[in-house]
This record gives sequence, structure tokens and C-alpha cells, in this order.
Amino acid sequence: MKNLCCKNCAGTMIINASGMTAVCPYCGTRYTLNHEDTDYYKNFYQQMNRFLSGSESDRERQLKADELWENARQDAFVCTDGRSVDVKWMHKQPFRGGEMLVARKNIVFHFFDGGAFAERFRRTVSFLDYPSADTRKLSQFFPNVIGGFELMDGSCLLVVSKDMDEYPLSLFGQLGGRHVAWIISRMENLCCVLEYNSLVHPKISIDTLFINPYTHQACLYGGWWEAAKNNSLSADGSRVLTTAENLTGLRNTAANLLGYTSSKDVRANEDVPKALADFISSKPMSNAYDDFAYWDDMLIKAYGERKFMNLSTSDGQIYGKE
Ligand SMILES: [Zn+2]
Repeated sequence: MKNLCCKNCAGTMIINASGMTAVCPYCGTRYTLNHEDTDYYKNFYQQMNRFLSGSESDRERQLKADELWENARQDAFVCTDGRSVDVKWMHKQPFRGGEMLVARKNIVFHFFDGGAFAERFRRTVSFLDYPSADTRKLSQFFPNVIGGFELMDGSCLLVVSKDMDEYPLSLFGQLGGRHVAWIISRMENLCCVLEYNSLVHPKISIDTLFINPYTHQACLYGGWWEAAKNNSLSADGSRVLTTAENLTGLRNTAANLLGYTSSKDVRANEDVPKALADFISSKPMSNAYDDFAYWDDMLIKAYGERKFMNLSTSDGQIYGKE
């Protein structure tokens, strides 16, 4: 998978599949894809969007995934003990101080400047706690660190497991209102776990979230080296973090998926009901539990309770009620 990064800030750009332009959700830079890019990405995004329509059999699903992985590339890393680690990846994405390689069953974070970020990532996720009445097995939506390697060049790798059917949210491009609605529901779940742990994850975005398009689940796998306790200093020491940032990240992610740079810019249109637009541009509630209740209310206003009750199981999942 080729990278499409913003030349201004290195953020992952969001592709508009129909217009074949890309926009950076972080700084608003727009970029028109050239001919070679257009063919490549059109093909790729059509494939990712077919994943979202997901009504095919397991066999067809497997074939689609295999097809996607045929383009995988490989990087080799040399450990301090001389062993080589080969990573076959489909998607590579830079972040400040490193890069993320998305393999089929793993995500490999490559930290260029030694192990400080990796250690912070590992420590924060190891202390994650879940409500005792957790019926959703929420831990599966947070990173499970399965290994780490110190490399000869002084950098290091941190390996997190993932399900084969989980893909970076950034790969799906711009999405319609209904898809964004179920993703908001799942992000609210994630924010409730963060709230329960008094944690702030200041990087909730299309770059750190992964989705399973078949089960309509969302996982927060990236950016954990930036996470910190509520009311503590950010990783770079520049500001105090508060849990309100989780809910702001949620809203900006939803806005980005709809093709907007900021949640403040979201407006209702034929694909985006007013209640959905109002929710995304609203000020977050004082905590994630209240925010989730508010979202539930707006979700019904956006897509209608009666209609929702009559939907089939799979559509019920789309609306975020399982
Ligand atoms: Zn940018």
C-alpha cells in the first residue's frame, strides 16, 4: 500500500473516492491525485468500501482479503542480537518519532529514538481496567502487546496483535452518515473505558482507530505513547490533558470521515441528518457516560426509533445497537 501523506504536516490524507481528491484532516491541505495515483487508489478504495457493505460469505471475504494482501510489501529489521525480523505489511503510516506498519495479524510500531515511547505505550495499556459488568469483552478493542525488539540502529519495534479483519480506519476514505453513526457509537464505548480509567488519549483519530467492517467493531490501537492520566502533562510536557479531549477527538474523527476538517464545520445535508450534524458539532458533555447517553438520543433523532426497530439484525448493528 502506497502512503498518501500530507506534504504539509505528514498526516494521513482522506481520499474522496468520487472526486479523486484528498484532504488532510489535520491542516486542511487539499491535493488532487495524479493519474497513476487515481487508478491505484480508486481500485483500493473500492475494495475497502466493498468491505463495508459486507454481506458476502466467509469464503468470499477470505478471497477479498487475500487479493488485498497480494500487494503487501516487506521490511527487514536487524535486532541487537543479530537476528532479523521480517514484517510483511499492507499499510505504512508515519507519526512523530516513528512509523506504524500494519501487517495481517499484527501492528508493528517502529520508534526511531529508542524505547521511551514503546515503554510508555506498554505501561499505559497494561494498567487498563474494565468495568466488572463488561459484557462486551471491551479489552479486545484495546492493544494487546505481544512483543518488542531492540534494533541494531538504536530504534525499536513494539508488536501489537490484531484480528485479520481489522483495518486502519484511514483506509476507508470518506464515509456516509450511516457508517459514521455506527463508528461514533463504538467510539463512545471506547471513550467510556478511557473515562473509567481516568485516561486521556489525545490522538483519537482515523490514524489510531481500526475497524472490523464485518462485525462493525472499532478498536483504539495507535497513539498510546501520548496517553496520560486525566489532569497530567502531555507527553511533550506542553499542556495539561483532560478527558474532554477524548470526546473532542471523537467528534473530529466523525467530522473527518464525513470529509470535514473540523467538527465545527459539519452541516446537515441529504446524507447527514440534522441530529447527526448537531451532535458532531456540539460541545462534549462533562463525561463520556453522559456523552454516550446524549449520542443515543441524537442517534434516534437522526435515524428514527420506529425505523430502527424494524431493521434487520445487520442494520441494527450499523446503527450501533447490538
Ligand atoms: Zn496536513
